[in-house]
Amino acid sequence: MIRDYMQLNESSHALNSTNNPYADSEATLLGDIHRVRRYFHFVINTVKDIPYLDRRAVDLAITEIRQTYDDDGNVLNNIHAYLTTFCLRNTVIDANAHKQQHHDWTQERERLATQNKIYTTQVSELEKTVSAKKQLAEACELGVKNTFKKKEESMKLVDKLIAEAVAANSTGAALMKRNEAQRMKQMIEKEVNDAQNRLHTIQKELSDVRAPIRELETKVAEADEQIRNLDSLLSIDLADAHRKLNVKYGRGLLLYGPPGTGKSEILKRAAIFAGITMTTVALAAGELNRPYVGETERLLADIMYRSNTIPFLICAMTIDEIDGLVPRRDNNAQQSKVDGISVLLSHIEGVKNIPNLIVFGATNRRNMMDEAFLRRMQAKCFVGRPSPHIRKKMLAPLLCKDLKVFTANRIDFLVKVTTNFSGAAVGALKSSIIVAMDQYREPDSLTDKVLLELADNAAREFSCWFGIGTLPEICRLYPNIIAATGHKEKYSLKLPNSSPSGRILVDLQERKCLIELSQAEATLEYDLGTEETSTLTLISRFVNGCSSRNVDTIQIIDMNFLSKYNAFDENKIFELLTTTFEECDEYNRSMLIFDIDSLIMLSVSDSQMSKSVSISNIHLYQFIREKCKKAIVEQPTKGPNTAAKEQLKERWIVMIVKHPLLRSLLIDDIEFKKTLQQIQQEQDDETQRTDNESVKQCPKCQQSYIPSKISHGSCHYHDGFVFDLDQNMALGYDQAQRIAQKAKLMAHGGNNDQNWKPSKLMWTCCLGLYGIDSPCRVGICGLPEELKGQTIELDKDLTMVVQQHFMKNEAAVRNIKEFMKTYTPSQIGNVAGRPSITSSSNLSNYKK
Ligand SMILES: [Zn+2]
Ligand SMILES: [Zn+2]
Repeated sequence: MIRDYMQLNESSHALNSTNNPYADSEATLLGDIHRVRRYFHFVINTVKDIPYLDRRAVDLAITEIRQTYDDDGNVLNNIHAYLTTFCLRNTVIDANAHKQQHHDWTQERERLATQNKIYTTQVSELEKTVSAKKQLAEACELGVKNTFKKKEESMKLVDKLIAEAVAANSTGAALMKRNEAQRMKQMIEKEVNDAQNRLHTIQKELSDVRAPIRELETKVAEADEQIRNLDSLLSIDLADAHRKLNVKYGRGLLLYGPPGTGKSEILKRAAIFAGITMTTVALAAGELNRPYVGETERLLADIMYRSNTIPFLICAMTIDEIDGLVPRRDNNAQQSKVDGISVLLSHIEGVKNIPNLIVFGATNRRNMMDEAFLRRMQAKCFVGRPSPHIRKKMLAPLLCKDLKVFTANRIDFLVKVTTNFSGAAVGALKSSIIVAMDQYREPDSLTDKVLLELADNAAREFSCWFGIGTLPEICRLYPNIIAATGHKEKYSLKLPNSSPSGRILVDLQERKCLIELSQAEATLEYDLGTEETSTLTLISRFVNGCSSRNVDTIQIIDMNFLSKYNAFDENKIFELLTTTFEECDEYNRSMLIFDIDSLIMLSVSDSQMSKSVSISNIHLYQFIREKCKKAIVEQPTKGPNTAAKEQLKERWIVMIVKHPLLRSLLIDDIEFKKTLQQIQQEQDDETQRTDNESVKQCPKCQQSYIPSKISHGSCHYHDGFVFDLDQNMALGYDQAQRIAQKAKLMAHGGNNDQNWKPSKLMWTCCLGLYGIDSPCRVGICGLPEELKGQTIELDKDLTMVVQQHFMKNEAAVRNIKEFMKTYTPSQIGNVAGRPSITSSSNLSNYKK
């Protein structure tokens, strides 16, 4: 057995080039000691008492991996949690112990029951005393009441006696009587006091007796609770219960995610460091797939049975690209592949179960794997591309190479350019930069252009696509979109004092970038730069924004993206988008950019009657629309909990849209919040609308009207002013009204001022007689056209404003001047002090 152990261990350490197998990892030493310990326990048949893995070894192993593997996600945490399940010890209690326990519990239950009986008897005895005392107390209470009554009556008598005594002018008999009365008063008071004291004593005695009853009752209730617990304990099968309490080890660990993220390396190191026995070197699914029927299964079974020789150790086999071995079982799957799946399944957790074997798998294509197999892999962790922070950490050492070439700004530039790069690609770029620095030597010759070329190569080598091309390529096509210097804070998505909802709408038509905020806040509005005319030229904005929030990945979804993956029919498109969305969702922070105009086709049907526009690929639109609703940016909960801060999810959705119809449709459908300006506009419109439906008074004809229901011809008015022909002056409407009234009154003999003669009043516009001729103009109620554009103070009386306006009617002024030349005023009643106004300048100066 030790020979087996040595053999297996040798193969797993074959990759260590040093002679000292513990140079890399101290955890391995702890793990190996634990393995030896398990062997000895196995020999003396007590291996069940110690767990598969040593907790210290597992903890240390994760710490050691963290030193070389940069990870700000939760991969290592997940692996740690998975491995810790193997550190749990299962409690095993033998049959005798069970019997003893059962016996103890039964006895305890009996004891409690008897005790309760005694308590209950005590209680009932005490209750008797209590009821006796209670009767006594009640009697006492009655006594007190009676004495009070007696006291009241006696007091009345006493008061009467005293009063009589006082009235009797201190004669001897009266004095006697008074003394008698006072004595009586004292006696009664004493009687009352005594009765009250007696009552107090009795009440105290009563509560003294009641206290122990309450105490006993609580004791009984507690014991009852214990009895119930013991009853339920006694009713279950303990051996069975303990078996069921055993921790079920996860029999598989699957790491998935884009290529080049170091999944296999993490698996290998985690297993070796923590003290898991590797039964073979890491295998690739391709190596296991053999052309002859049954050969793959035999090979697999052979490797798996190795674990049977060392049942005291936990063994693992690592399979890279495991999707090739367990492909999704659809109708046209190869029979040999299906056999491979069933062999794996039956050995992991099936008929031929090997309990001490776990399977480690790594894959780039989780969605292509067999469902049943995926279910067996209890732990599934996503290994994503490095976030901006991690990329910065990886690239920062370049600063040490040559500070002249690599400034902090340049590192930031590289961090942005390497958006969506895998860890391996960033590593490759770093090496190629080091080589290039040696080649160019002159610090100035290593330009941004050279750097972009190197980055482009690395991106292509490791398939780190950004839309259809690579980000460095786009940067070369559109220089300055990611500048090496400056613009650091430009387009930042770190919004002070407001929390974004994760949805951004870029309106290419209105040239606005709208950032929606969560809660009740209005959407923020930014103007687009002149160069931002297409999805590609907008990238700068979002690459900068993402780097400000440490967003791990950006994906552009447009027509080019679909055609790059040959997704032309609807099914293919949905499959591709689902995969892309799923991958983005795996990251803690991601951004999806939709070029809505290129994805959604509008079809315009132009019939004779009307022109209508509809969406021709409505399913895709609905699909995208639902995704847009799922944007989220989690806010840190207030408090010092930094661990929770790490796990905050951010799913940014950017919608770039140009067609006004698509934009308004989308905004309505996803209920995109409005900007402050839009809200204001809406409120104004609403006020205007209600205003148009309320009854108003026309400043021209003084009639009531509703603005929304007016029509031409409803308003009859004069557009000039009233002129007093006799006084040779312009009049206000009120003055004219007063004169007309006075004249009417006089006609009916109601005026006693015989000297007063009514003036002749005339409309200047049409020379019609005031109050007699009908208005010369017909129009729409409301302000005259000339005044509509002007701003009129809110508190001004519109009738006055209109009157003053009509006073300036030049045609009317001319009219009346001409007329006055031919008119001889009747020289009566020229009231002193009334100024004569004829010149137009005086007319226009007229105020009320
Ligand atoms: Zn007129
Ligand atoms: Zn009117």
